[in-house]
Amino acid sequence: MATSAAPILAGLGEIRVCNPRTGDLLYTVQEPSEEHLDQVYQTARHVFESYRRLTVRQRLREMGKLKRYLLEHKEPICQRIVEETGKPRVEAMLTEIFPTLDLIQYYEKHAERILRDEKHATPLVLMGKKSRVYYEPIGPVLIISPWNYPFNLSMTPIITALVAGNPVIFKPSEYTPLRGLLEEVCERAGLPQNVVQVVYGGKETGRRLISRRTTKVFFTGSEAAGKAIMAQCAQDLTPVELELGGKDPMVVFSDVNLNRAVNGALWGALTNTGQTCTSVERIYVQEPLYDQFVAEFKREIERLHDPLTAREFDDKNIDMGCMTTDFQIEKVEAQIADAVAKGAVIECGGKRKQGHVFPATLISRVMPGMKIYYEESFGPITTITPFKTEEEAIRLANDSPYGLSASVWSHDIARADRVAREIVTGNVSINNVLATQGNAALPFGGTKNSGIGRYKGAHGLYSFSNIKSIMIDRNSGRYEPIWYPYTPKKYELVSKLVDCSFRGGIGSLLGLVLVGIRLERLEKKRHL
Ligand code: NAD
Repeated sequence: MATSAAPILAGLGEIRVCNPRTGDLLYTVQEPSEEHLDQVYQTARHVFESYRRLTVRQRLREMGKLKRYLLEHKEPICQRIVEETGKPRVEAMLTEIFPTLDLIQYYEKHAERILRDEKHATPLVLMGKKSRVYYEPIGPVLIISPWNYPFNLSMTPIITALVAGNPVIFKPSEYTPLRGLLEEVCERAGLPQNVVQVVYGGKETGRRLISRRTTKVFFTGSEAAGKAIMAQCAQDLTPVELELGGKDPMVVFSDVNLNRAVNGALWGALTNTGQTCTSVERIYVQEPLYDQFVAEFKREIERLHDPLTAREFDDKNIDMGCMTTDFQIEKVEAQIADAVAKGAVIECGGKRKQGHVFPATLISRVMPGMKIYYEESFGPITTITPFKTEEEAIRLANDSPYGLSASVWSHDIARADRVAREIVTGNVSINNVLATQGNAALPFGGTKNSGIGRYKGAHGLYSFSNIKSIMIDRNSGRYEPIWYPYTPKKYELVSKLVDCSFRGGIGSLLGLVLVGIRLERLEKKRHL
């Protein structure tokens, strides 16, 4: 097991991408020139002119090609993901490939309905007119992704943007760029040329891309970068969607099935080695069950295999992979050291094993003065705290700057639902973890410092659409009675119009019709 840093950013625009498990250099990529970036934008604008004219059905046909290609090539794609992230092979298939295909399938079934022109009711005062809403493409969009799910968190917004009719400029993370993979997938699947353009580079390249002004920036990553990007986008009023970090609570009442809840906690905290925005980072257990829960959690952890303890060296035997980046391990280590110095107790784990392998870690007696209390950890560590009442559980769950996701566990579904409603967050799973993400129909996104906007499902398509309101007035020869000139008589009638429209009660409808007739008459007199 190599201990070298992986992946590393070298100077002068060269990015070195390493295998986090072995430390081996996989490849290097060069950051793009200014001319290249100009060219990318020019191409994207050009592609938009033809791509926007495809019907939703035609775009879905393109997505069908993509689905077939991904299905046929899922194994080598998984291999690339494992190599660059260090995640278990099962997770690459389950949390990168599966949700990508599932999203395409969901849009194949529903996108035409979601994006179809809508008819809306027109109020009586606008008699004779028709109201519509059209969902139109917005233009080339810039998608910037993080390193933790390099395939799914890229493909999900890319697919959504494409289904909504927009070409994509995509910048992957400099740590897991999967060089050449997306280009190969799009080309071999047979998507329209350059409908997705990939630009490699780090933060600075991200900034350079934003400065060229796209129609929209869709960003997934850290809170700090999200704030910087929003500030930059504000210069041009570029709309921005931010999918940021989390510190998800898991609230466990004492009436649960202990084994299921403990195993849910393990998976929720440790999947992707805890490097998931919706990882369970805080567990709250009701007091009568607390000691048992801690003991069972520690017992179950012993059964998990990491790359050092896997039964035989085969990716498919690994439950918990290694961590992907050096800086994230250092962050986790600093949080643990700070917590211990301030009185927290390490129930298990706590120290780096070897290279990027970090053990599953459970920490109790955490206090608000500790870094780990409020900061996102983004590693295989979780804190555990007892509570007595439902009110206390809600207060603890909400005591966070983040609000991405949460879970509530109880045999009493009414109680779990009550608590789910009180937690200020974007997603809640009841008696499960990370489950809302399993349904492509459900919108995903955060509250508080976890971000702005929603994607997936219908909301995802709307967030990549220009939502255009239309009012059709077939009577093109008629003058509107509310237009100029204003007179005291017109004022009197408009005032009556307000009363009849909003006071309610018997006669208001008739009153409205009468006011309408009198306004029309007034208008006719004007023309005599
Ligand atoms: P990061 O913010 O450091 O980087 C994410 C991407 O943004 C990278 O491609 C990076 O090059 C780019 N970038 C960074 N600063 C930029 C800037 N100023 N301008 C333009 N581009 C910039 O995040 P990361 O370390 O890659 O990912 C981990 C974070 O992402 C965690 O906080 C995690 O919770 C969050 N995350 C959120 C979600 C979600 O859906 N809410 C999903 C996965 C990860």
